[in-house]
Amino acid sequence: MRKKRQKEPGTPHVTVKIPKELIMDMDRLIGSHGFRSRGEIAKEAIRQLLNSYQNILPIFEVLNHDQNGVKVYDREQHRVADVIFKPEGIRCLLCESDICPHINFVFQQPTVREILRKKRLEGWKIPDF
Ligand SMILES: [Zn+2]
Repeated sequence: MRKKRQKEPGTPHVTVKIPKELIMDMDRLIGSHGFRSRGEIAKEAIRQLLNSYQNILPIFEVLNHDQNGVKVYDREQHRVADVIFKPEGIRCLLCESDICPHINFVFQQPTVREILRKKRLEGWKIPDF
């Protein structure tokens, strides 16, 4: 199954391309086990797969980062933590704190450490790590 990351504006859904041979098997399931559509089958299959990987995926993941901060995905809370860098220091907007697991995680990222090291040299109140 190839995933397409294209967002469809106006809906909370995205299009995913699925090989025809899987579609034929999916269509055989429609009308049984409570499935009424390919979408329902795909959702259930993907949920089961993601649940099976839940314990091996890291709890935190960097979604993106720049000079102003880092977006951290928190798999336990199923939320995004925005960790922002400012001359006054570093702050997590999700935890509304300057000390939290997301900030600890951010400090462990080599590319972010380099950004923070430069900011510290510019006089920003970023704690040493
Ligand atoms: Zn946090």
